[in-house]
Amino acid sequence: MKRLINTSEFTRSSSQLAGQVNGSELLRAADLLFEGRASLEWQVAGTQKKRVEGGFESYLNLKVSGVSQMVCLRCLNSMEVKTELDRTFRLAKDELQAAKLDQDEEIDAIVGSERFELLDLIEDEFIMALPYSPKHENCALPELPATKIGAKVSSNASRSQQIARENSVNSATVEKPNPFRVLAQLKKPNP
Ligand SMILES: [Zn+2]
Repeated sequence: MKRLINTSEFTRSSSQLAGQVNGSELLRAADLLFEGRASLEWQVAGTQKKRVEGGFESYLNLKVSGVSQMVCLRCLNSMEVKTELDRTFRLAKDELQAAKLDQDEEIDAIVGSERFELLDLIEDEFIMALPYSPKHENCALPELPATKIGAKVSSNASRSQQIARENSVNSATVEKPNPFRVLAQLKKPNP
């Protein structure tokens, strides 16, 4: 599977590439995932737009969608997380120009190259799209009253519950998992 692109050529010729990637290939994301489980589809498209003052501006559009498993911070069981992202980046010729573009434009800038590794970009965006504090909407494990935490549960669980509580404001951003699907995932043998 070809994942290295020459960004200048790719955008000039309005090229497109698509593929699939599994959690086992995403080494940096693996720590955030339950048993490194993720199954993603990605699509990259290059475009160029004419500048008013002459020349072109180059853009990369990245779409990533798929399902992965994370550990619920409340019950410590696995939970399904859906990823659906669609982002466009303006290509810069070096870090300096990228920093300048990032200040001026609403669109994010990335540095292009003759050997641009798409997987790095896909993994970066996938990690940033994962919930910061993954939690089931309804856990099987009942929450203990705050006063009894520490006395009744292991340090790991109480820490997770604490984190869960601290981040409960964010819980609305976590997708509601389908309990049957989660169950099916749990019953599946390791790939
Ligand atoms: Zn849970």
